[in-house]
Amino acid sequence: MKIVHCPNSRECIALLKIVMAAETIVALSTAPGMGAIGVIRLSGPESFRMVLESIPKIGKDDFVPNKVYFGVWKDAQDQDLDEVLVCGFKGPRSYTGEDVVEISCHGSPYIIGQIISQLTQRGAVLAQPGEFTMRAYLNGKMDLSQAEAVADLIASETKAAHRFAVNQLKGGIRREIQALRGRMLHFLSMLELELDFGEEDVEFADRATLGALLEEMKLHVQQLLESFQLGQAVRTGIFTVIAGKPNAGKSTLLNCLLGDERALVSDIPGTTRDTVEEKINIHGILFHFIDTAGLRESTDVVEQMGIRRTHDKIRQADILVYVFDPGTTSPQDLKAEIKEWEETIPYLVVVANKSDLYQGFSDMIHREHQSPNVHWVTLSAKNEAKENALTALLYQLAVGGKDLQSQPVAINARHEKILTSAMEILIEAEQLFASRAPTDLLAQAMRRVAYELGGITGEISSDELLGNIFGKFCIGK
Ligand code: GDP
Repeated sequence: MKIVHCPNSRECIALLKIVMAAETIVALSTAPGMGAIGVIRLSGPESFRMVLESIPKIGKDDFVPNKVYFGVWKDAQDQDLDEVLVCGFKGPRSYTGEDVVEISCHGSPYIIGQIISQLTQRGAVLAQPGEFTMRAYLNGKMDLSQAEAVADLIASETKAAHRFAVNQLKGGIRREIQALRGRMLHFLSMLELELDFGEEDVEFADRATLGALLEEMKLHVQQLLESFQLGQAVRTGIFTVIAGKPNAGKSTLLNCLLGDERALVSDIPGTTRDTVEEKINIHGILFHFIDTAGLRESTDVVEQMGIRRTHDKIRQADILVYVFDPGTTSPQDLKAEIKEWEETIPYLVVVANKSDLYQGFSDMIHREHQSPNVHWVTLSAKNEAKENALTALLYQLAVGGKDLQSQPVAINARHEKILTSAMEILIEAEQLFASRAPTDLLAQAMRRVAYELGGITGEISSDELLGNIFGKFCIGK
């Protein structure tokens, strides 16, 4: 089903629900391509009928939900297509809250194509990305933050990413937000009672408690906002670029971090002409490392292209690891080389390499070049262990000083946007409170905060928002 944007979001979502309730969707839920098995999923009122028509041996009345049945799937010419297992889930006790059937067949693209084609001929509609989960959300099986967690869970590549997704799926963020919103709404109802009494000078909402509540809410929202950097690091990983002059030891450093020989190492300057990309898991945070072409003046066209690409990559970096060889780099040269990046890159780590050859040299450079944005590491890429001072520093920069193990939840970019505007309104409310502004102004500000917070769990949502969130899912989920 295609999400069509309409001006009135509430009406549009109600419409979506009606359309969905009538439509049965189908999709391959396992990864596309050849595999041992493929799982095709249907959701909607006609799911059971559509499937059972192709497996005549399983009678409609014998088909009990939550049980797995073995059968032979017949193709359009009534020939045996495949041996399959089918399991039905009767709504509302299913993933989507509707009638759902899962068919496990052999993972041949031909068989999968045939089954899906037969089902669409019977009226099933091909599911949009994330439509099964969107139906689950619209049918009240999960809130928006949990639906987002489903996508995070599927995408999780590290233990930490998995743990955050599981916590969020279990309602970690929802509980935090609902607690905040609940207290806000309670107070709001007291303020509104006061407004109902109009002229009479009564105060249902105790002002001292209200002041404390605003303060507490700000603190709580701030704590959630502070979890954003960690959440991003865990969910999307850290884009880390290794750059420096040719022969500084960039490729050797990448190989050291990887623990094997991936990047080409040679003492001929300009060996890495293109970028080499690798993912490295450092204590649960995924770093996307990019070893770039050495930065130097060159007349070689291919090398020039590599250098241009290096500059492009550096501009996108979360962390730039700038490697230099103290034997060939003066403090003045180094200063000039990194000047450009100091202000523009979120984190700049300067690595004085080849410490086995030049002891003490890097300390002198460090002394001469003190800047709060720059972090320094001295090492020998050739002799260092896989875990070293650089990996420890990178991890600390990524988690922003937070303890990854004891952090229960971390917000994503959508939550951050909402919480940032909730924080702005809270500050506004606090100012109104301090200046003893009229109750209706205060009530209005609190209503706006409650409205904003409702956007995280999806109590307040729009069709456009749903399109944005579920459009990023894979088909079949
Ligand atoms: P890149 O051009 O910056 O990628 O540099 P490479 O990684 O290809 O290294 C250039 C040369 O420096 C190679 O001969 C490496 O073996 C050498 N090298 C790299 N790191 C070290 C180190 O820590 N100590 C010493 N002695 N040599 C190193």
